[in-house]
Amino acid sequence: MALTFKGGIHVSEHKHTRKCAVEQMPAPKTVSIPMSQHIGAHADPCVKAGDIVDLGQVIGVVEGKLGCNVHSSVSGKVVKIDEKKANNGILIRNVIIENDGENRLHPDIKPWSKKLEDTTPDEIVEIVKNAGISGMGGATFPTYAKIQSALGKVEHIIINCAECEPFITANHRLLLENPDEVIGGLKILMHTFSLKEGIIAIEDNKRDAAKVLRERLGEDSKVKVCLLKTKYPQGDERQLIFALTGRKLAAGKLPADVGCCVFNAETCAAINRAFATGMPLTERIVTVDGDCIKNPKNLLVPLGTTYRDLITFCGGFSKTPNKIICGGPMMGVAQWDIDTAVTKGTSAVLALSRKFEHYFEQPSACIRCGRCVNNCPMRLMPSYLAMFSMQNKLDMAEEFSISSCIECGSCSYNCPGHVPIVQYIRATKVKINDRKRAMQAALEQSKLK
Ligand code: SF4
Ligand code: SF4
Repeated sequence: MALTFKGGIHVSEHKHTRKCAVEQMPAPKTVSIPMSQHIGAHADPCVKAGDIVDLGQVIGVVEGKLGCNVHSSVSGKVVKIDEKKANNGILIRNVIIENDGENRLHPDIKPWSKKLEDTTPDEIVEIVKNAGISGMGGATFPTYAKIQSALGKVEHIIINCAECEPFITANHRLLLENPDEVIGGLKILMHTFSLKEGIIAIEDNKRDAAKVLRERLGEDSKVKVCLLKTKYPQGDERQLIFALTGRKLAAGKLPADVGCCVFNAETCAAINRAFATGMPLTERIVTVDGDCIKNPKNLLVPLGTTYRDLITFCGGFSKTPNKIICGGPMMGVAQWDIDTAVTKGTSAVLALSRKFEHYFEQPSACIRCGRCVNNCPMRLMPSYLAMFSMQNKLDMAEEFSISSCIECGSCSYNCPGHVPIVQYIRATKVKINDRKRAMQAALEQSKLK
């Protein structure tokens, strides 16, 4: 029986690219590599204009803070270091490299010298850190820090292959085409946490991938392939952990607090690659889809390639899009510039027409149907949160646990009143955070007097 969680919604899947094998996207003439592709401190460029760099060479470093090093995805010449808007609109320094087309690998890139069984957890953390790996499901948390903070606390390692967002099939294709990379990464993690068992969790709309994995695993009963009900947001860590272990993750707590650690399938494959070949994270699979893309594809893309390059490689637009989204349509970010670069967290680039628009100029009033309450996977009262947000009642919104909202949009998705609940919630969270910062600043000022 497929496992699941309480609440959530059934969304139209639109997985048109499920049969599109991953194609290697040729590296463009110029890549623009952002110095922040992860949660935490921005990296500082350690190269300058005129430098010749190799594929896989470190070009940005984070010293002494939470963050990830950044590596070059091509060999070539650094043209300049320039500020460009990232996919969230924030200005970030980019290292711009002219590709010489030689794919000259940096001499430091070598397979790890020891066998897995002789490698210590601290050495694994170092390998992952040096490879600049961050969560590739969209959260972009530095993976070395996740492993380091969970050492000694974990009973269940879960590889997240739910891929519950519509359109995206990058993980699905990875499992079908490269199951050994995911299994290899899981085994490295099991060794790191001294666990005898690991779980690969897949939604039951990807039974073919589960079959491939089970065939590869054969008699190996240490890895369990678990089927999950196809439901949104099944890929959210909290819902995944509950579905697989029955453990509930309270607000503000980390999966390790309930003995679990969750890794995205592509992150897991990147760990395997770093261990087996020494290759840092310089490329990722991106689903390019939407009803405005001429030839939707799954592409293996060098980081720093622009959305424009991807769209051109897919034949361009078939019609003028209403919206370009980085990520899935439920939690992705609408873009205003297609010259934004693909980063470690870019799972999809979607070009959608107006038929996918859920925005209403004039939302009608809430009719108190309770649908949003039933749908909320965090067991919140979304209609109340929307009402407090509209009335600017920040204290009440806090009292009703607005901070626990994972911004999945399940509440807004089929609200008959078309109330833009999640948009209200997001705006209110920003106001609450601004208020906290202002109060903190005032407190520090008063201490100085
Ligand atoms: S789903 Fe919409 S109309 Fe129904 S209770 Fe929630 S906010 Fe109100
Ligand atoms: S209130 Fe937040 S967590 Fe609950 S359904 Fe809405 S967006 Fe998702």
